[in-house]
Amino acid sequence: MSQKKSMNLGVKILIGLVAGIIVGAIFWVAMGAEAAGAFTGKYIKPFGDIFVNLLKFIVVPLVLLSIMDGVIGMGDIKKVGKIGWQTVAYFLVTTAIACVIGLIVASLFKGSFPVLQLAEGSAYEAKSADLMSTIVNIFPNNAINPLSTASMLQIIFIALIFGCGVLVAGEKGKPFGDFITSFNEVTQRVMSFILAVSPYGVFALMVWVVAAQGPKILGSLGLVLLAAYIGYILHVVLVYTASVKIFAKVSPMTFFKKIFPAAAFAFTSTSSVATLPITKECCDEMDIENDISSFVLPLGATINMDGTAIYQCVAAVFLAKCIGIDLTVGQMVMIVVTATLASIGTAGTSGAGMIMLAMVLESVGIEPIYIGIIYGIDRLFDMGRTTLNIIGDASCALCVNTWVGSKEKKNA
Ligand code: ASP
Repeated sequence: MSQKKSMNLGVKILIGLVAGIIVGAIFWVAMGAEAAGAFTGKYIKPFGDIFVNLLKFIVVPLVLLSIMDGVIGMGDIKKVGKIGWQTVAYFLVTTAIACVIGLIVASLFKGSFPVLQLAEGSAYEAKSADLMSTIVNIFPNNAINPLSTASMLQIIFIALIFGCGVLVAGEKGKPFGDFITSFNEVTQRVMSFILAVSPYGVFALMVWVVAAQGPKILGSLGLVLLAAYIGYILHVVLVYTASVKIFAKVSPMTFFKKIFPAAAFAFTSTSSVATLPITKECCDEMDIENDISSFVLPLGATINMDGTAIYQCVAAVFLAKCIGIDLTVGQMVMIVVTATLASIGTAGTSGAGMIMLAMVLESVGIEPIYIGIIYGIDRLFDMGRTTLNIIGDASCALCVNTWVGSKEKKNA
């Protein structure tokens, strides 16, 4: 995609976002929150849903083919291993830092968080997650089911193992490798048709969010929301700015400008996986090698969730305070470990981080049922955390691209 076209997409998405906020606010003022939420949910949000459906439709072939093509394009199984480790190490370190930032910010806000009189339970029934079964479930027992159920970790496993199979098969694997490369190219074209309508999808979703949620931002939950957003911003400023500058030697301003279309889309769609096609386009604009972005981004959209980790830490401290528990340092360490793992197990889809919050709460003895307190405004948390999640994926792709590039230059 040319520079001009991609800038146009970014500007159009921004216009969609701002117009959506204005129109949503008008609905809210004119009709009141409940009626505005119901009306826009019924007549405007469906247009956003159509767009998100299209993205979800393209995402399974995109992840499968782009990771396979990325592995095949590396041409050497040792290179796959090296990039794999660099990527996973970057993901783990940045996510652990995210947890620490989340805990520090939440602790600073703790004094202002309310202790609530909680009698009756809440509407939300949390599903708790079991770490071992998350690991076992990475390995599919059927080759077709993961594709039809869009089970991302299993799809990544299939893509990696078949991609390595093509490399090891040598000459005999080449025709299949060429087929995958060609199929991947076609999928990317289909994806660009879908991307062309993204500003309208953004507009429709934003109208609905503002019309339905507007007044709740002003309530007492605004404080915990503020804490999470301060954590998100600190992480962007401290971690991504530094890693992009130090490791990739790229001006942070340039990076943020290039990633903006994906960030704006993540903010409205609240799905890293649905945003993946746009994140990939933005990385192409940054001249990140196709093999690397095709490998790092789908993996990141599935397991790298810095925003989710911050949210889970802030929410854990907030909910502990609400029910009158004062967390010990040991419990905070436990939160860092479980939030890092929970964010890996979180699917890159809307609201998934809230489900995995159950695992974090249980690790420090808080009943997951209390998630109900923040359930109603989860979308507002999710907008920020998804934005952070995809910026983290792109920053990793940029750094790995530089590490691989300088190593190749040294060897040349
Ligand atoms: N919506 C987030 C994402 O797609 C996951 C989450 O709910 O935290 O990255």
